[in-house]
Amino acid sequence: MSTSLLYHIYSIRGYQYRSTKKVSGGIEFYIEQPKEKCRCPECKSQNVILKGAKTRRFLAPPMADRKVTIILEVPRVQCRDCKTLRQVHISFARPMRRHLRAFERYVLGLLESMTCKDVARHLVTSWGRIREIEKEHLGRHYARPPLKDVKHIAIDEIAVKKGHKYMTVVLDLDTNKVVFVGDGRGSDALKPFWKRLRRSQAEIRAVATDMSPAYISAVEAALPDAIFVFDRFHIIKLFNDKLTELRRRLYRETSDGEARDALKGSRWILLQRSESLDPSRSEPERLARALKLNSDLSVAHFLKEELSEIWEQDDRDTAEGMLLDWIVFAESLGIKELAAFAKTLRRHATGILAYYDAEITTGPLEGINNKIKTMKRQSYGFRDQEYFKLKILSLHRTRYALLG
Ligand SMILES: [Zn+2]
Repeated sequence: MSTSLLYHIYSIRGYQYRSTKKVSGGIEFYIEQPKEKCRCPECKSQNVILKGAKTRRFLAPPMADRKVTIILEVPRVQCRDCKTLRQVHISFARPMRRHLRAFERYVLGLLESMTCKDVARHLVTSWGRIREIEKEHLGRHYARPPLKDVKHIAIDEIAVKKGHKYMTVVLDLDTNKVVFVGDGRGSDALKPFWKRLRRSQAEIRAVATDMSPAYISAVEAALPDAIFVFDRFHIIKLFNDKLTELRRRLYRETSDGEARDALKGSRWILLQRSESLDPSRSEPERLARALKLNSDLSVAHFLKEELSEIWEQDDRDTAEGMLLDWIVFAESLGIKELAAFAKTLRRHATGILAYYDAEITTGPLEGINNKIKTMKRQSYGFRDQEYFKLKILSLHRTRYALLG
């Protein structure tokens, strides 16, 4: 080793190479900071008095499979100008870190194609240390994606733990990058995002969401001028919920034994589209019987089939005519569940038809969601919520299949 090699291999500049020591499993390089190069860490003055030193060890990228440690007596100086008394600044490592910047770069390079676990094993160090290096790197580069040019976004929730914990994800639909990950779901989860959006002065033109009413009101309050695309699958799901409510009420109110039997256990077949019913399990017949015995259910089912057609039209005008017909018809029936749903549709008609204007859907979020699921399955350490968020924010560049 030499002073010049230290520079070329490890980017250690301004230090003198002193000696090499072979130890079990590795090599130690002793380096020294020339006294005349000591400066005050605060004001950079060279007018300092040496006040002892502390031995520090830094992990470096390995050499020919040997672990390399750089050892430096870090001088402590008293500044005559600003009176600071502290260790001098170290140029080749971040404050408080016990590895070189070169080691970080080496680790990050390996992480492109290896899991944290593999890298830790390869470098004979702890998995936690590798993960910290990655986390810091992600934090520096991905924690706050620039929002200034964001125009079209989709908002969705993801389940972090089975059915319990949620996060809210905002996707830039033009770049397919996740631009925000919030804790929980609903309007509170989005508050920090609106704040950052306002600061960035971004002009959001359209938002797609398939989420709860809480999201809808949050979006409408925060972005009153944006086109709000109310996603079709969400609407179908809402309608199915109403259908279930209706069926339950009819069941409660029906005294006729045969009608009750027909309603009982018909939830699933009511929620299917007719073409997906299974004749071998006599589902079409069961559906027909349930509908025949109850005219309210029958008309609701007809409306369900009609509803999906709204998104299958060639143009917005045709779709609008269809939607309004649908709403008026549903309102005229005197069935309270359908009337409530029609009211929702009327309120969101613009948002539903905006599908024909903004041509955005929450579809791409489905892809992100699948990547997150893959990542969760293959990874460890996602109990660290900040790390998990950073991983999601960097999904567009990470090879998610190889995380760990
Ligand atoms: Zn000073």
